[in-house]
Amino acid sequence: MNFIFLGPPGAGKGTLAKEAAKFYNIPHISTGDIFRENIKNQTELGKKAKAIIDAGGLVSDEITIDLVKDRLSKDDTKNGYILDGFPRTIPQAEALEKFAKIDAAVNFDIEDEAVVDRLGGRVCCKDCGQMFHVKTMPPKVAGKCDKCGGELYTRDDDKPESIQNRLVVYRNSTAPLIDFYRNKNLLVDIDAKPAPEKVLEIFKQKFAK
Ligand code: AMP
Repeated sequence: MNFIFLGPPGAGKGTLAKEAAKFYNIPHISTGDIFRENIKNQTELGKKAKAIIDAGGLVSDEITIDLVKDRLSKDDTKNGYILDGFPRTIPQAEALEKFAKIDAAVNFDIEDEAVVDRLGGRVCCKDCGQMFHVKTMPPKVAGKCDKCGGELYTRDDDKPESIQNRLVVYRNSTAPLIDFYRNKNLLVDIDAKPAPEKVLEIFKQKFAK
């Protein structure tokens, strides 16, 4: 299956996509992760994207579409994939139709208040990217990753002003994709409010292997 995971920032898409990808044994393709990796490695792409991402804006459609087109041309996508964070605009979705066949767009639905709570306390491992939440999913040792011992930090785009900006960007540019995929009969709504394990269970029930 070729999935798109839709939903506002903080809906838990990344965590769910990682688990669902393991379950289906297909790659999890997160444009946000690809951009962060490029920023970490100070590539040309990373340098172009950093200021935009830190402020909670969107990287240009042209750059992002090329990046995904290239990633989907790799052999490991032949048996399916999960696109997490792409498309984020109607032009991206239209471009995607030209080089991919999507089976389902899963919309992880959650209200803004819950998003602000979730992102406000989120910390992330510098080395392996594992997420924690200072209140709801704290690491065993403060500031250290349970998985690899790496240092935990707050992403610049999880700071309060960027969170608000990301929500505005989501509403204006990305939320219209819900109707775009509904009109193509590809949309599947899942309530993202429960704990991630529960949401994953619901996802698995809807898409039994
Ligand atoms: P994410 O990890 O999905 O929240 O993405 C982090 C940031 O990367 C976003 O806030 C955007 O600045 C950028 N980004 C990720 N995916 C896209 C996309 N499809 N189009 C434009 N910018 C993106």
